[in-house]
Amino acid sequence: MKCPFCAFLDTRVVDSREADGGETIRRRRECPGCGQRFSTYERLALSIMVVKKDGRREEFDRQKLVNNMWKACEKRHLSVEAVEQIARDIEQRVSRLGVTEVASSVIGEYAMEGLRDLDEIAYIRFASVYKTFSDLNEMRAEMERISG
Ligand SMILES: [Zn+2]
Repeated sequence: MKCPFCAFLDTRVVDSREADGGETIRRRRECPGCGQRFSTYERLALSIMVVKKDGRREEFDRQKLVNNMWKACEKRHLSVEAVEQIARDIEQRVSRLGVTEVASSVIGEYAMEGLRDLDEIAYIRFASVYKTFSDLNEMRAEMERISG
């Protein structure tokens, strides 16, 4: 890792520790060139591409997924941690698929499953935004199933 202060090419690691519940490794580095210290963070690179309905691809982004789900949770007095946990579960499910590309609709399905267990209203909101119900009757049937 190149030193950000003097561009020395060979900095050394003086400390490594887990952060983020073991999902991130934080390394403290020291530059033998200028003596400055800085940190780097190592995370699992999923490099799974999400294929959207219009065919565009973008890298799977857990934080973006959290943001999308969180919008559906507005005024539901839910904790953002619960939504983050759903996103982590989805990330693990996707990585277990062993694929390099996944349809956005699959991630949408996983998100709905997670939200359904968390909060019915958030689930319905999310589902209606993502238009995964093929028609209004299907959505109505699902709402009746939940309230019944
Ligand atoms: Zn340096």
